[in-house]
Amino acid sequence: MERYTIHWFRRDLRYAGNLALASNIQQYAGRVLGIFFIDPETLKRSDFSFNRFGFLLKTLMALKVELKSLGGDLLVLSVSPEVGFRLLHKKLSSAGLPVPEEVTFSGDYEPFALERDRQVTDLLQKGLGIRVRSERDHLLIEPGELLQKKGTPYRVYGPFAKKWFLRLHSEEIRTRLEKQKDGLRYLAGCLRERSQEPHFRLTWKQLFRGKNVGLVDELDRFIQGNSRKLSVPLPPAGSKAAYQTLDEFGKSGIEDYAGARDFPAVAGTSRLSIYLKNGSLTVPQVILFLELEKERFSSSGSRSRFLKELVWREFYYHILFHYPHVEHEAFNQKFRNIAWRNREKWFSAWKDGRTGYPIVDAGMRELRETGWMHNRVRMIVASFLTKDLQIDWRWGERYFMQQLLDGDLAANNGGWQWAASTGCDPQPYFRIFNPELQSRKFDPQGAYIRRFLPELAGLSDRQIHAPDDRSRPAAYPKRLVEHSEQRFSSLLLYEGYRNGARK
Ligand SMILES: Cc1cc2nc3c(=O)[nH]c(=O)nc-3n(C[C@H](O)[C@H](O)[C@H](O)COP(=O)(O)OP(=O)(O)OC[C@H]3O[C@@H](n4cnc5c(N)ncnc54)[C@H](O)[C@@H]3O)c2cc1C
Repeated sequence: MERYTIHWFRRDLRYAGNLALASNIQQYAGRVLGIFFIDPETLKRSDFSFNRFGFLLKTLMALKVELKSLGGDLLVLSVSPEVGFRLLHKKLSSAGLPVPEEVTFSGDYEPFALERDRQVTDLLQKGLGIRVRSERDHLLIEPGELLQKKGTPYRVYGPFAKKWFLRLHSEEIRTRLEKQKDGLRYLAGCLRERSQEPHFRLTWKQLFRGKNVGLVDELDRFIQGNSRKLSVPLPPAGSKAAYQTLDEFGKSGIEDYAGARDFPAVAGTSRLSIYLKNGSLTVPQVILFLELEKERFSSSGSRSRFLKELVWREFYYHILFHYPHVEHEAFNQKFRNIAWRNREKWFSAWKDGRTGYPIVDAGMRELRETGWMHNRVRMIVASFLTKDLQIDWRWGERYFMQQLLDGDLAANNGGWQWAASTGCDPQPYFRIFNPELQSRKFDPQGAYIRRFLPELAGLSDRQIHAPDDRSRPAAYPKRLVEHSEQRFSSLLLYEGYRNGARK
């Protein structure tokens, strides 16, 4: 039997521009098999979401179909990676079938993933005698590659982003981006329905040679079981859908991005986050496709503005990597023991979109009805929960993860700590959003509010942001709290911790 290799997919769910996969195909003449493990433990997490899991399954199915069309294959097993690789090795060996020469995977940077990868690498290399290789993937610049002069990690976005842009213009990064050319060309071909040559020369069935090895693909079973639990419509999945979204944004979105991105009633953002989450597409691919590699930090144009958002994504990954404690507690030590009010009733009202603040309620209903929320509104509702209701940001963070299709530890944690002023952020006191003013500024005609709060549709453009007792329909609740009072008490609360009077 000829040698072969396995690519362990995790959050790099694509064929195009998957560097580890591409090098395997070359080195093993197409004899590469794909595997994905659904770890039962992850399904028990308190921030688990049936909707996001549904989108992951849909993405896996799109990947499987794509790999098959290229002569390859994907096996989805319902075990942890450690158990899965052991099992695979045992089953293949006892059936007299060859084991893979090598296992490859793409880099992942969350604390849990880093630990998992260390353990699995150890098992494969030392326990099972299989070589392991990993490649960079969804970040353009990895943690550790961008440090301050003294060699310490950045703690503030501005200086990080400036340095990131400088590095973007280096020869090294240009070469990195160039490597994505073939993948983008392939995706452009897919969009034009151009048939693709087979790239793979091995399937699991061929490997098993008709023997009953006892490894059953579980993807269909998961899809069927989970479909009954979905509460939002799932967008098209997979790298072709991602590329199509990118293509449309490139044609009709990016040039107006700076002006449109803050208005939730307008489709002014890329909607790429769900695809970046599972690696149907990566930041390097987006940069190359949109030709952002020459953008400058100092520019205020739409293209530079968009790139700066991608840099926020990279920044939060660097933060999570260098300061893994942020997953569980405040980045800033001073704010670790804030005496949050944590009223369950208020939390429920916030989740249900019944706070009496229309922009907050519209956002929370958008989240529940669609699994997505506009970034401006994410900031408003997060500020409202932490500053107006004085509820622990971790409650909001977990609820977002339970609802968001693009829920991603680094960006979500970063966004929540930013809004709660507990994060890597030098000036927290200016970040108490006034929901009514935000609403008047960013949804001036109330079009967004009307879309998600039909009970307020009949109110005038002036009234809709803050219905008073006369204009408020009976079905819509009174304000839960008064912003001006809560703002004041929030400032007092934070000030005590900031100056060390409270610890
Ligand atoms: C409280 C809070 C929670 C958030 N939770 C998540 C989350 O779980 N997952 C997630 O991907 N984003 C999160 N964000 C960031 C941002 O809201 C979303 O990335 C964005 O709304 C996705 O829509 P888009 O792809 O159309 O964005 P665009 O405006 O088109 O931006 C392009 C890409 O840049 C990245 N990006 C944009 N803004 C940010 C940001 N502030 N932080 C990090 N990356 C950013 C995303 O990858 C996004 O897809 C959160 C923000 C806040 C304030």
